[in-house]
Amino acid sequence: MEKIKRFLLPEEELPRQWYNIQAEMPNKPLPPIHPQTRQPMTAEDLSVIFAKECARQELDQTHAWIDIPEEVRERYKYYRSTPLVRAYALEEALGTPAHIYFKNESVSPLGSHKLNSALPQCYYCKQEGVTNVTTETGAGQWGAALSYAAKAYGLECAVYQVKISMQQKPYRSSIMRTFGAAVTGSPSMSTRAGKDIITRDPNHPGSLGTAISEAIELATTTPNCKYTLGSVLNHVSLHQTIIGLEAEKQMEMAGEYPDTIIACFGGGSNFGGLAFPFMRHQLKSQELRAESQEASRKVIDFIAAEPSSCPKLTKGKFEYDFGDAAGYTPLLPMYTLGHDFKPANIHAGGLRYHGAGTIVSQLLKDGFMRGVDIPQTESFRAGILFAQTESIIPAPESCHAIAATIREALKCKETGEEKVILFNLSGHGLIDMTAYESFINGDLVDFEYNGK
Ligand SMILES: *Cc1c(COP(=O)(O)O)cnc(C)c1O
Repeated sequence: MEKIKRFLLPEEELPRQWYNIQAEMPNKPLPPIHPQTRQPMTAEDLSVIFAKECARQELDQTHAWIDIPEEVRERYKYYRSTPLVRAYALEEALGTPAHIYFKNESVSPLGSHKLNSALPQCYYCKQEGVTNVTTETGAGQWGAALSYAAKAYGLECAVYQVKISMQQKPYRSSIMRTFGAAVTGSPSMSTRAGKDIITRDPNHPGSLGTAISEAIELATTTPNCKYTLGSVLNHVSLHQTIIGLEAEKQMEMAGEYPDTIIACFGGGSNFGGLAFPFMRHQLKSQELRAESQEASRKVIDFIAAEPSSCPKLTKGKFEYDFGDAAGYTPLLPMYTLGHDFKPANIHAGGLRYHGAGTIVSQLLKDGFMRGVDIPQTESFRAGILFAQTESIIPAPESCHAIAATIREALKCKETGEEKVILFNLSGHGLIDMTAYESFINGDLVDFEYNGK
């Protein structure tokens, strides 16, 4: 029989709703807490800085399905469905009996899954009469996606990029500016927070903490301006479920069902996006699960792959913590290494975050998924094997998912099990070639977590 490599959905099959897992979780995530009053926050509190609809979605624990606005579906059609691909060449190189599939989010115009949430966030802003959006960005994936989405819906976009990343990775700020965004290196003299930092330390290289403070200050001092985030929050994972909802239909086209689902983990949005639509079939209590599984599907092993230098899922504590270094954001109940944790300077910039989103944290606590940690050099070895077999250079973040997939596939080789493994290729690495260059030159090292 002829082998089919790529599965795409016809336009009329594209999902019309996102899946809100909060509504069906046996234990709901705990609420965000206001940093000053220490009271649970309401959607109204959150809408001071976020779009109203995003604030509402953030706390929605009742509606399992949320309509994707028509205008967002129109924009999704520019690049969706993304392909589901069978990695035959990778399987062969590994000599594994496992069937490996990946969902290829790298085909989005900006090269990663981030656009899936940037589009609805900008759309809701537009609907609510907002004219300006702002955010912070490290390596620039989120800033790039937001710049494109802002332009698509006619909003002005201002991005604070960590100064040192801007100097080390100039191409992403060029991309943002190509889409018309104003990009400022943080700390900057354009905000009070930035001025204070520069006054204290004129050579401050910037951090996500400084950039968040500046973006939030801009949002709260500019009329009609909202702040946006590309990971961690519940509404971001909600928008990303388009990935898993498509993948579910595409796996059906392939005539298979996954035993294992893997994604890399920064704040949890691409993991949740792929995993939650599949996980919805096994959220019932343990007993009910056993019953319904017999009737329908097998139990899926959900694996989130994090860097061993920033292992909040495998070595963090579940507690209320701030989302940023400075302590400006709401307190979130999550697995965290502490908001003052300074991750090593690994190349997978999108995975250098101290905490995990609140939904994923609760699911991990309740045993619905697990984390694995991957050393940096193992991730690049995996990425290079993937590039040489499947012809796509993966983002350094995505390399963690590939490394975890290879570990599982090699286990199958030992046991002879013909497992079906599905992983998310969250982005391509064509703008991250300095990272590959260092690896190839033998300059990359592993950083272990040592408790601080
Ligand atoms: C931002 C990013 C990540 C990490 O963010 P999540 O919210 O955990 O998905 C992973 N891969 C790529 C390519 C990214 O840009």
